[in-house]
Amino acid sequence: MKELKICHLYGDLLNTYGDNGSLLVLQWRARQKGFNVSTELVSIDEHFDSDAYDIVFLGGGQDYEQYVISKDIQNKKDSITRYIENGGVFIGICGGFQLLGHYYTTASGKKIDGISALNHYTLNQVNNRFIGDITIIDKETGEKYEGYENHNGRTFLGEGVGPLGEVELGFGNNGEDKTEGARYKNVFCSYLHGPLLVRNVHLADRIIDIAYSQQSK
Ligand code: GLN
Repeated sequence: MKELKICHLYGDLLNTYGDNGSLLVLQWRARQKGFNVSTELVSIDEHFDSDAYDIVFLGGGQDYEQYVISKDIQNKKDSITRYIENGGVFIGICGGFQLLGHYYTTASGKKIDGISALNHYTLNQVNNRFIGDITIIDKETGEKYEGYENHNGRTFLGEGVGPLGEVELGFGNNGEDKTEGARYKNVFCSYLHGPLLVRNVHLADRIIDIAYSQQSK
């Protein structure tokens, strides 16, 4: 039987606005496609094995949880970066997206380190959050994704990283340049909770197909 191994990274700490629903849809769709699916939670003080998974899911959360994780994730920085560079499928939502970049500035102005696995950074904004429904168009596939965003952070993409989509409705990465999320190798990042894969099952299918194709490489 085909196997699909999923890692829910810091799943006990980062799981806001229904992010866990995305994980459930990944499991459900993969089972429908004939996979035997196993899911492992990897959290604080635990080792991340860069060879052990087909898909890694890192959700969103509050600044406090992100601060705690920003310390621990430095110990996993090399293995997560290796996993990504080797073509591993990685989904980062909101706070998880922010932590993959160079740094994140919390709403109170504290600069916390990301792991620089992706070339982006996140600034804060004063007394404002980007909240509401959001629709984006994936320029790679022409597909539309719908979701819900709620973030203080304003993310700016650097060279080598593309957006997941172009904002049609809502704020996206920073409210300025119409970019939403990030794409790098087999990494999919987004500010869309919603949860993203429940509302956009076609994206879950694409991600599972990519993960499966990586097994034969
Ligand atoms: N705490 C981060 C922010 O406010 C991430 C929020 C989230 O994951 N929804 O920008």
